[in-house]
Amino acid sequence: MITYKKNDEVTLVITDMGNDGEGIGKADGYTVFVKDAVIGDHIRAKIIKAKKSYGYGRLMEILEPSPFRRETKCPIARQCGGCQLQALTYEKQLEFKEKKVRDHLERIGGFTQIPMEPIIGMEEPYYYRNKAQFPVGKNKEKEIITGFYAGRTHSIINNRNCCLGAKGNEEILNRVLSYMKEYRVEPYDEQTGKGLVRHILIRCGFTSGEWMVCVIVNGERLPREEKLVETLKTIPKMTSITLNVNKKRNNVILGEQIRLLWGQTYIEDSIGDITYRISPLSFYQVNPVQTRKLYEKALEYAGLTGNETVWDLYCGIGTISLFLSQKAKQVYGVEIVPQAIEDARENARRNGIKNAEFFVGKAEEVLPEKYRREGIYADVIVVDPPRKGCDVQLLDTIAAMQPKRVVYVSCDSATLARDLKYLCERGYRLDRICPTDMFPQTVHVESIVKLVRK
Ligand code: SAH
Repeated sequence: MITYKKNDEVTLVITDMGNDGEGIGKADGYTVFVKDAVIGDHIRAKIIKAKKSYGYGRLMEILEPSPFRRETKCPIARQCGGCQLQALTYEKQLEFKEKKVRDHLERIGGFTQIPMEPIIGMEEPYYYRNKAQFPVGKNKEKEIITGFYAGRTHSIINNRNCCLGAKGNEEILNRVLSYMKEYRVEPYDEQTGKGLVRHILIRCGFTSGEWMVCVIVNGERLPREEKLVETLKTIPKMTSITLNVNKKRNNVILGEQIRLLWGQTYIEDSIGDITYRISPLSFYQVNPVQTRKLYEKALEYAGLTGNETVWDLYCGIGTISLFLSQKAKQVYGVEIVPQAIEDARENARRNGIKNAEFFVGKAEEVLPEKYRREGIYADVIVVDPPRKGCDVQLLDTIAAMQPKRVVYVSCDSATLARDLKYLCERGYRLDRICPTDMFPQTVHVESIVKLVRK
C-alpha cells in the first residue's frame, strides 16, 4: 500500500459510500473519502488531509460519471449543507439508507438476523418539508441574505427557494427581507453578537394550508413591527406571526419566549383523522406525507385491539399518542417541552379524545418515578427520542415493566442499534424493522422497530 500525503492527486473508482454520504474509493490500497463523489464515479481527487492508511480527498474532476449520478435539481446542492445525496438517483438513495440501517444494526447492535421490511420511499421526494429555519446574515457586499448554512460551517448560502421546502417560503422570505431593508433592521452577527434578526422560522400545515412565521430576534422587539405584520398578513392563509426572543450567544436557534404579533400563536394540521395544533416551540414531524405512513406502521406494530394501555414517551404534541388512542384503552404521553404538552392536551380535547393523558418531564425521570411510586403498567411502550437515543434509566424501567411490545421510532440508526441491543439483552426480541424515508436527498433515515417480549 502506498501512503499518500497532502496535495497528492489520485484517481479512484468510488465503490462505497460512508454514513455521511461521502464517496469511498481506494488508490493502491489507500482508502480515500471524497465528499460529492457518488458510488460508481470514476474520479480524480486531491488529498486534503492524509492519515497513515486513509485520507480525505477533494473532488477535482469526474472522469467517468456513475450510472447512478444525475443532475441535481438544486443549482447549489454541492455548496449547501442541507442535502448530501441529491446527485444520486432516488432508488440508489433508498438503497444507501437500507444499508446504513443494516450496517448499524450489525456493527453496533450485534444483530445477525435482521427482519427488515423494504424502506418506505416517497413518490415525489421534493418540496416535502413543512418547516424551515432560515438564518439571516450579510454577504461580502453587505447585502442582507438568507438561506442555508454551507456544510459544517456557519457561512450562509443565499437561497430562498430550496427544493425540499414548501413552495411558499420564498415569498415570505422576500417580504421579511424587504421589510428589513426598508426599515434598516440589521441581521444578527454571530461574531460580534450585535444586530437583531437571527432566523426566520416558517411552518406550513400541508393539509390546512395555514402559514406560521416566527422571527427569532436578538432583542425584545423589532422596529416598526406593524410594518412587518402589514406585509405578511396579506399572504393567503397566513395564520400566525410571532416573535421569539433569543439573546443568548450560542447556536441554539429558538429562545424560550414567544410574543404574538398578529393572528394566533399556533397553526393547525391533520394527519389521518386527527387535527393537531402546533406552536412554534413544539416539535412536529417535518414530512407530513411520510409521517402518516410512519404512524400507520406504528399502529400496526403496536398491535392494538382496544384493551391495551400504551405509554408514548417523547410524545411531542401527542401525535403518536392520539393516533394510537383510537385503538387503545388508554394512552399516556410524556414530553419535556411544556408548550408541546399544552398542545397535546388541547389536541386531545379538540378531537374529542378522552383516553389520553399527558405529563411534562423527562421520560427517563417520569417513567421510573411513576413505576416506583404507582407501579404503573403498560402493554405497549412507544419511544421516539431525539438523535441521542434513550437514557439507560429509561431502558431499565422499560425492561422492568415488561410490556408485551416496544415500538421504537428513531431518527438515528446508530443510537437505535445501541438501545435495541440493550433491550434485547433484557428479554426482548427484534421482530421487525422498517426504515422510512422522511428526509429524501439527505443522509438521514428514520426507522421504526417492533420488539416483542420473549
Ligand atoms: N413523537 C413525537 C415527537 C418526537 S421528537 C412526534 O412524532 O411528533 C422527540 C421529542 O422528544 C421532542 O418533542 C422533544 O422535545 C422531546 N424530548 C427530548 N428529550 C426528552 C426527554 N429527555 N424526555 C422527554 N421528551 C424529550
